[in-house]
Amino acid sequence: MSDAPSDKINLLGLSIAKLEEYFVSIGEKKFRAAQVVKWIHQQGVTDFDAMSNLAKPLRDKLKMEAEIRPPKIIFQGDSADGTRKWLMQVDGGSSIETVFIPDGDRGTLCVSSQVGCSLDCSFCATGKQGFNKNLTAAEIIGQVFLAAKSFGLPIKDSQKRTVTNVVMMGMGEPLLNFEPVVDAMNLMMEDQAYGLSKRRVTLSTSGVVPALDRLGELTDVALAVSLHAPNDRLRDTLVPINRKYPLAVLFDSIRRYLDRLSESRSVTFEYTMLKGVNDSDALAHELSALAKTVRCKINLIPFNPFPGTQYEVSSRNRIYAFQRILLNDGHVVTVRKTRGDDIDAACGQLAGQVDDKTKRSARYIPVTDVTPSTEHAV
Ligand code: SAH
Ligand code: SF4
Repeated sequence: MSDAPSDKINLLGLSIAKLEEYFVSIGEKKFRAAQVVKWIHQQGVTDFDAMSNLAKPLRDKLKMEAEIRPPKIIFQGDSADGTRKWLMQVDGGSSIETVFIPDGDRGTLCVSSQVGCSLDCSFCATGKQGFNKNLTAAEIIGQVFLAAKSFGLPIKDSQKRTVTNVVMMGMGEPLLNFEPVVDAMNLMMEDQAYGLSKRRVTLSTSGVVPALDRLGELTDVALAVSLHAPNDRLRDTLVPINRKYPLAVLFDSIRRYLDRLSESRSVTFEYTMLKGVNDSDALAHELSALAKTVRCKINLIPFNPFPGTQYEVSSRNRIYAFQRILLNDGHVVTVRKTRGDDIDAACGQLAGQVDDKTKRSARYIPVTDVTPSTEHAV
């Protein structure tokens, strides 16, 4: 773990297929790939000398030209409700956030895909910070690696309080960082690595339609779509990418994605509840009609405020009234519990430390002070 990127090849983000290619390129047998993947992702090993089933000359060669380098943890915070947040430094010096949310038998890890985000949804702290860079596959899977390591590997060990689900719902738009995200999700599902089932790895998107179509050709992870509005007029103002890919186009793409999966699979619509903006009875009815056109679940997310935002969260009664309308129409609707807000780990509060390349933040009030508070520092 060092601050500066090196010339060495980082094996952490390589799928078995890519590692096989690498081993063949250095004159080794393909099966070394599975051995090394197991050492890294199931045993948490970063030191080649600890890989006892590799011959010494191979270990020496790997030490010369390769490395296993996750991001560097610069802060870890524990919330009173069990939520744990890490601030991790990535190559280039910016930092990202990763959040672990325990809930009964489940442990969900919320993973970032970019430093900042270029899409500028009006209610999102990450969007307000602008865009800095795409994470590498090593930086994405590195978040799972470090979280799993902090709870004790391998994560498949059900006796341990550990990561059972991964959601690509941290900072960034995963479909705008396509290859690294797909590579990292493949490692999450790879038996020799984390072995999570495709239903336990979820990609969340605000609706980058061409990339969603490509995703469907390559993988069958669970899909969440950030809807937030049931008509184009309102969605254009909240989720600007809607102007490029409006709801009719987005829904066609979602249906294509679901058509490739079994009948039991559905999309989850995320709908952030913004007081007086998207929370009326009329909009609930409109959402209900729209949601009837595709197999879905609806997740209502109470808006998490952040400094400088113009929005407020809908009242609890308003959220339940909105939910009731959808339930009465036969939809499956949950209201997300707000978790980890005492450590700014709730959705949309993830800000990291972004050196904004888009200069959007210069037009915006500074979003958050991420200086670790000593009461949560470890
Ligand atoms: N870019 C992807 C994934 C990251 S955002 C996407 O937009 O889907 C993860 C989720 O948090 C999205 O549903 C997003 O709309 C929601 N979100 C963003 N800001 C929020 C806020 N301030 N309060 C509540 N939810 C928020
Ligand atoms: Fe980006 Fe998602 Fe935030 Fe929109 S909600 S700005 S797509 S991270």
